[in-house]
Amino acid sequence: MRRKKGQAPLLNVARWIERSEANGPGERFVLWLQGCPLRCLGCWNPDTWDFAARNLMSVDQVMATIAAVRGIAGVTLTGGEPFAQARALRHLAPQIRSQGLSLMIFTGYRLEELTSDAAREVLTHTDIVVAGRFILSERDEFLRWRGSRNQQVHFLTERYSPTMLQDANITEFIIARNGEMQVTGFPSEALLGELRLKFPVHARTVSGARREPAYSWKCEKRLKYEGGRSVVYRPYGVSCCF
Ligand code: SF4
Repeated sequence: MRRKKGQAPLLNVARWIERSEANGPGERFVLWLQGCPLRCLGCWNPDTWDFAARNLMSVDQVMATIAAVRGIAGVTLTGGEPFAQARALRHLAPQIRSQGLSLMIFTGYRLEELTSDAAREVLTHTDIVVAGRFILSERDEFLRWRGSRNQQVHFLTERYSPTMLQDANITEFIIARNGEMQVTGFPSEALLGELRLKFPVHARTVSGARREPAYSWKCEKRLKYEGGRSVVYRPYGVSCCF
């Protein structure tokens, strides 16, 4: 796709989920951006490290995809490293906010590292930033929206309250019509172990599948679970469908 002079750069997109409750407050459209230079040991999404083109989309195409989803509270950008594409996001972020949607961003950078003009502009349209590298030795399963203790949650507007951090993390299972199940959110090691036992044949590990979702299982019970619905697992409550 050829860009005209002055147009926003294209976004390199890994994938998206139209509705998720596990990646920020309320039901959210979640966009995984492709490309991360930080390469944290134990990263949940190593398939998003490579900067090679995966799905190149214009800002307008991404915005139209988001706008087609009704009733969501906002958009979450994750990755990969969203701020590696700040020059495109500076065009997307205000459009998201102008639709009345909130914006949350997961970044591997600390807030004080985001000094470029483009990054600062994106931040002026952002409600919540979860910032900092994932550090495996600092892993904590009980911190809401964070994988490791060093990561910080910054509430940049008054739209949401830090009291939300007292709620438990959730893990979400999104089951496609073909039976492919995607796990998103913050699963504990115990839950991951349980999943690997239940779906051993198709389990993919972080080191085994650079170009595939980091944790994805083919659901053996696909006839029972067809329909593209998502099932939410709460650590101490309802279990999911299997
Ligand atoms: S910053 Fe995020 S996407 Fe990048 S390597 Fe670290 S955990 Fe993975």
